[in-house]
Amino acid sequence: MYDYLIVGAGLYGAVFAHEAKRAGKKVLVIDRRDHIGGNVYTEEIEGIQVHRYGAHIFHTNSTEVWKYVCQFATFNRFTNSPVANYHGELYSLPFNMYTFNRMWNVVTPQEAAAKIEEQKKEAGITEPKNLEEQAISLVGTDIYEKLIKGYTEKQWGRPCTELPAFIIKRLPVRLTFDNNYFNALYQGIPVGGYTRMVEHMLEGVEIRLGEDYLADREAWNALAEKIVYTGPIDAFYHYSAGTLAYRSVRFETEVLDMPNFQGNAAVNYTDRETPWTRIIEHKWFEFGRDSGGRDLPKTVISREYSSEWKPGDEPYYPVNDEKNGAVYEAYRRMTLSQDKVIFGGRLGEYKYYDMDRVIEAALARTRQEFN
Ligand code: UDP
Repeated sequence: MYDYLIVGAGLYGAVFAHEAKRAGKKVLVIDRRDHIGGNVYTEEIEGIQVHRYGAHIFHTNSTEVWKYVCQFATFNRFTNSPVANYHGELYSLPFNMYTFNRMWNVVTPQEAAAKIEEQKKEAGITEPKNLEEQAISLVGTDIYEKLIKGYTEKQWGRPCTELPAFIIKRLPVRLTFDNNYFNALYQGIPVGGYTRMVEHMLEGVEIRLGEDYLADREAWNALAEKIVYTGPIDAFYHYSAGTLAYRSVRFETEVLDMPNFQGNAAVNYTDRETPWTRIIEHKWFEFGRDSGGRDLPKTVISREYSSEWKPGDEPYYPVNDEKNGAVYEAYRRMTLSQDKVIFGGRLGEYKYYDMDRVIEAALARTRQEFN
């Protein structure tokens, strides 16, 4: 008999398990997959830490969360600066003076601000109601057309006019020459990969892999006082209030016999025609690699393709639009009468969480639980 059965060995589950163990609880972690780490899982290929489920760059403004993760890993000094490729034209991301200079030949912040204002005015937007209007009011029509529209419609499979504005607000807009994608005090990637970091979190915790909770929930429930469920919430409730939409991602990973494919960790393909959204070159997430190939003569790249989730696919992103928000709300209400089960993480809470926010949420919940 366990105090807690934790379903899912991703970040929420691992933090919860770590804290429960520290509080003297008996914990069992299970995961459907054959590995821990959830979507932050990394594996070594050709001496390179490969992010199997897509790029994960840790960034946070919370000193508490930063100190917390630093107990389990040493972080390198990686700074995310993706490049946008629009039909072969390269632009700096996030939107900053390098981007504006390349787009409009403007030189000063004043000229850039005036250009954005002029395009915003022409589009007649006062109060942005959706992602398209939000994007134009932040950076103008040219940048919207070349760097946002195609990418976003590939990524989400919906027109920008039907997507919530908050998604584009994840990206900073700056009138400075600063290519750092994140406005975060702390940023980096665990040296040796995320898997090792999660292993450290789960040290001394019993783990069973390849186990599907939903396939035999009665038997699993009988094992523990409480369940921490981090899988899709609609599946937990047998889709009784409707199915939630997710975006799934497929990766085509290749080992290339060259030291340097694209010279950057992430290149976003922002046109509509290129079928993938981005290509990541994993070695550039690791600090100190040599582009001349004296360090590693090979490289590993992953092309990322987005699609609507269907049964059998891996869910990655919740689609936080109005329709799905209402469905989720129905499930959230059901959880209120469920005192044996705690729901957490991107799938359990149907929330577009970054890693630091997941950790924050798990810590808050454990504090409530164990204090
Ligand atoms: N986005 C875009 N062009 C880009 C990169 C991002 O239009 O080159 C938009 C797109 O709508 C995306 C959102 O900004 O879904 C958030 O991007 P972020 O990099 O935060 O997404 P993630 O890395 O979580 O997939």
